[in-house]
Amino acid sequence: MGKEEIAFFDAKPYDKEWFDKFNTEYEIRYYDGRLRPANAKLAEGCRAVCAFVNDVVNEKTIDILSKLNVEVILMRCAGYNNVALEEAKKRGIKVLRVPAYSPYAVAEHTMGLILALNRKIPRAYIRTRDFNFSLNGLTGFDLHGKTAGVIGTGKIGRVFIDICRGFGMEVLAFDPKPADIDGVKYVSKEELFKNSDIISLHCPLTKETHYIINEEALKLVKKNVLIVNTSRGSLIDTEALLSALNEKRIGGAALDVYEEESGLFFEDNSDKIVTDEVLSLLVSRPNVIITSHQAFLTEEALSNIAQVTLKNFEDYLLGRELENEVRL
Ligand code: NAD
Repeated sequence: MGKEEIAFFDAKPYDKEWFDKFNTEYEIRYYDGRLRPANAKLAEGCRAVCAFVNDVVNEKTIDILSKLNVEVILMRCAGYNNVALEEAKKRGIKVLRVPAYSPYAVAEHTMGLILALNRKIPRAYIRTRDFNFSLNGLTGFDLHGKTAGVIGTGKIGRVFIDICRGFGMEVLAFDPKPADIDGVKYVSKEELFKNSDIISLHCPLTKETHYIINEEALKLVKKNVLIVNTSRGSLIDTEALLSALNEKRIGGAALDVYEEESGLFFEDNSDKIVTDEVLSLLVSRPNVIITSHQAFLTEEALSNIAQVTLKNFEDYLLGRELENEVRL
């Protein structure tokens, strides 16, 4: 019998590097394109497909996969908001994920974005490369003594809290399931919005958290607040954020994710005309920093993602308990 095959979508060079390093058992068919109804047929002959955050794993895709006898969807990420779970369940397709691969990767990138935004490091870097050593416009503020508002105090949120405490910051938090964390005060969302100098999002995207940062929230926040999102784009109503930036109601925004990122992020669009007006306006603002969903991108995280994803498939094939199954 030949090797089990995995149809691996949205494959990037760094994915191939780490999966090839740890894979000894399977034939992995790497496809550059994102999984979506139009190319789901590529999974023919595979019992497993491997997908990522911007693959379109909707009802239609799952219908096609089911007709091809795909049995498992291996999400090589923690989030699964892009998977039609009801449909997968109906079709008897298991959905597995990598719940934690490196909370440090995301939390450290979050603080990196805050420092870059607050201390204007990208602007300074560009200036000095042109021998422009002026400091005008580069004033930031001390993080020490300021208040970080953390929404979602799970694995990443907690590491981020430790980092903030290391900087001498006060921490306010909002989470429907509060934990006992040293030095953290849980408050209502409204209190958090009103009293934070930095607001950082570390909750999953759900019906409750969709647009958790909306016009109403942006009316409550401090005038110079920095808003940071390294979780999921649709946690922020981006048009409302843009209005708040335009009207100077907030100090700035650092975004590793964007609600319309699918099809743009992870790709080189530098030779194309990007027609997303909201993104174009955000990119052009001096007080906005955007990275392309890269918070997870460390060697440790990629190594864990590859190993856990391959083990998830092995657990399924060997009939072991599926500890990383996403259940409804
Ligand atoms: P986690 O499950 O450990 O923690 C999530 C926390 O959010 C939990 O404590 C939960 O109670 C809380 N929460 C749920 N609903 C909430 C609500 N309505 N309001 C406030 N808090 C709420 O998850 P994690 O590993 O810490 O990851 C958090 C998120 O980070 C993921 O859902 C994912 O979207 C994002 N993420 C982004 C990247 C990236 O590269 N940018 C990488 C990994 C994860």
